[in-house]
Amino acid sequence: MRHNWTQHLRLIVFLLIASTGLGLYFGQPFAGLMAALAAYLVWTLVQIRKLHHWLAHPDTGDEAPESIGLWGNIFDNLHRLHRDHLRTRDRLQASVNRVQESTNAMRDGVIMTDAQGRMEWWNGSAEHLLGFRRQTDRGQYIHNLIRHPSFKAYFGARDYREPLELNSPAKPHIHLQIQISLFGDDDRLIVAKDVTRLFQLELMRRDFVGNVSHEMRTPLTVISGYLETMVDNADDLPPKWRRAINTMAQQSSRMEALITDLILLSKLETGEQLVNADVVDIQAMINHICTDAKALSGDKHHTFSVEIGERSYLKGDEGQLRSAFSNLIFNAVKYTPAEGHITVTWTTDRRGAHLSVKDTGIGIDPVHIPRLTERFYRADPSRHQQTGGTGLGLAIVKHVLLNHDSNLEIKSGPGQGSEFICHFPRERIAEYLEETGPA
Ligand code: ADP
Repeated sequence: MRHNWTQHLRLIVFLLIASTGLGLYFGQPFAGLMAALAAYLVWTLVQIRKLHHWLAHPDTGDEAPESIGLWGNIFDNLHRLHRDHLRTRDRLQASVNRVQESTNAMRDGVIMTDAQGRMEWWNGSAEHLLGFRRQTDRGQYIHNLIRHPSFKAYFGARDYREPLELNSPAKPHIHLQIQISLFGDDDRLIVAKDVTRLFQLELMRRDFVGNVSHEMRTPLTVISGYLETMVDNADDLPPKWRRAINTMAQQSSRMEALITDLILLSKLETGEQLVNADVVDIQAMINHICTDAKALSGDKHHTFSVEIGERSYLKGDEGQLRSAFSNLIFNAVKYTPAEGHITVTWTTDRRGAHLSVKDTGIGIDPVHIPRLTERFYRADPSRHQQTGGTGLGLAIVKHVLLNHDSNLEIKSGPGQGSEFICHFPRERIAEYLEETGPA
């Protein structure tokens, strides 16, 4: 028998009146009322005890205690809520299990950490690829387990647009690509992909290009040497050979430039040419390059403006930076018609230092800009014969800048000239101290 609140109240009032009436019959109305109240109190306490016991031991059984009246109603409602809660919990647990099973089946390692890098969950592949152990590593900081400084910097930088590549800390022969995504309350989802095969193919490609270029350099130097001698003594040659020898000499010097660029690029890529921590005097370097650029400009009579402060110093590799800046300034000469203007500017602000090479030349269609730093990519293939470029200049610039934690920005439009800006981070700027000079 179940009651709602109003029925319950009515029943209590009726019982109290009845017991007071019974007491009145025996001449003790107050005792009758007290007896009824005491009985109600005891019954209520018994129900509260049942409820307390059930709430304190929710796992002992699903069933809520049995009762009658209002308390029966309360227990029924609680029982229904409890049952709904269990069903929802089971459904959620099933979903979580399914997600975990599917991520466990993945070949990529998946790791969840909080904002500080404390490991909360990871799949079986993460154990295999990174050597994590389920029993001991939960709650550990991930930087203590992946101890590469580059990983620590990548995790902390919060700029996860590009993936990071590194060798597995547990199995150094495995090469991993790490990608981090933010989710939830600033938590991190880290995906580690095994890219060993791709990495080895890429290494083979680089080695091949590097080795072939080296092997070709010696015979080519011999051929160029003889051709130059023949060009110098062209008057002794039969007239029908002169043109052929001249063309051969031009092409062999182009091939030499190509091979020099290929060797430089392969050194930059393999990291064989480490970034020396030179302190480079930018003004002196740019002035020197501009002198060569004026010679290259020849009878095209370009005008040059160089706006670089006296004390502009950068920490980096002098040789690499010279190649990068020369490529940009020589390109400005090559792709700017006669009487054009070339401006080289060095600025610093709170983000870092910026070297801009701006010309009033032919410009570039924006569709080509994202691909310009690829090897042999040319915005206008018909023109490269005239300019005599190798098609590797901007690829070299990109790699030099990568080695200096920097990047290249290109602004251009057809017929509007071009601006190539190298952005260097603040840490690369060398301070000038009056006592010791640049540091
Ligand atoms: P290249 O040896 O052909 O100059 P680069 O890698 O140096 O090779 O440049 C790639 C392409 O970018 C060039 O072929 C040219 O189409 C375009 N380019 C580079 N610099 C400029 C510039 N200052 N103005 C216009 N086009 C340019």
